[in-house]
Amino acid sequence: MKKCALVTGASRGLGKAVAMSLAKDLELHVLINYASNKGAAEDTLSQIEANGGTGELLPFDVASHEEVRQAIEQWLKDHPEDRLEVLVNNAGVTRDNLMVFMEEEQFDEVINTSLKGMYNVTRHVVQHMVRKRYGRIINMASLSGLKGVPGQVNYSAAKGGMIAATKALAQEVAKRKITVNAVAPGFITSDMTKDLDEDQLKKFVPMNRFGEAEEVADLVSFLASSKAAYITGEVININGGLYS
Ligand code: NAP
Repeated sequence: MKKCALVTGASRGLGKAVAMSLAKDLELHVLINYASNKGAAEDTLSQIEANGGTGELLPFDVASHEEVRQAIEQWLKDHPEDRLEVLVNNAGVTRDNLMVFMEEEQFDEVINTSLKGMYNVTRHVVQHMVRKRYGRIINMASLSGLKGVPGQVNYSAAKGGMIAATKALAQEVAKRKITVNAVAPGFITSDMTKDLDEDQLKKFVPMNRFGEAEEVADLVSFLASSKAAYITGEVININGGLYS
């Protein structure tokens, strides 16, 4: 019996760092989800294996309910002995624009990936967790979902929705020893933030720097561990003091 973790969007950035931490710290077999970047996902797997861990690729578009259903149901069918104990809903995209210019597709794309994607994946994984009476679900929210960020009405709405869903689901499944928490990063170095003016923006961060993906991964790893058994329905900020 293998204890497994599914990390969505684990080919790059925060998801990659989370996948590596869960394999290393908790010795979980990691299902590395990605949308299209197979080479990067293979690189995540190679790095996990180089550290003595194990994993496999599980591609699907989190925004497609049917694609997610097929991939997860097939995996569960093919691995009847294994337990999917940890789910990290990390996949997300930004399509920034001011509301007056925001096209419907920019709004829908962000909601469908970041918010509905969490529903699509969690819906199938939580059934398995309920049956096994154990689970850890960690949702990658954002400071945008708490504070609201101009130019990100779509993204702020998706992440705010994710935070509210975290609190609701935590209460539904607490009796089954399943915890559900959200992590809310501020500015973290990754492809998503590479076009931002870091020198300018870091002045607003009390710690005067962007965070590293590995720092977020350490927090996720703790929430996924047995040490965090009594923490549920929480949103934990990790933003260098920018906002709380
Ligand atoms: P990133 O570097 O752009 O990586 C995004 C990851 O999500 C990639 O692995 C990508 O896969 C995957 N992905 C995108 N759309 C997907 C879909 N429809 N289905 C499956 N996978 C999909 O982003 P990041 O900075 O690591 O962000 C990760 C999460 O943290 C996001 O939810 C983001 O909103 C959140 N966050 C980030 C920051 C930050 O400062 N970076 C701050 C707060 C919150 P491919 O490689 O195949 O494209």
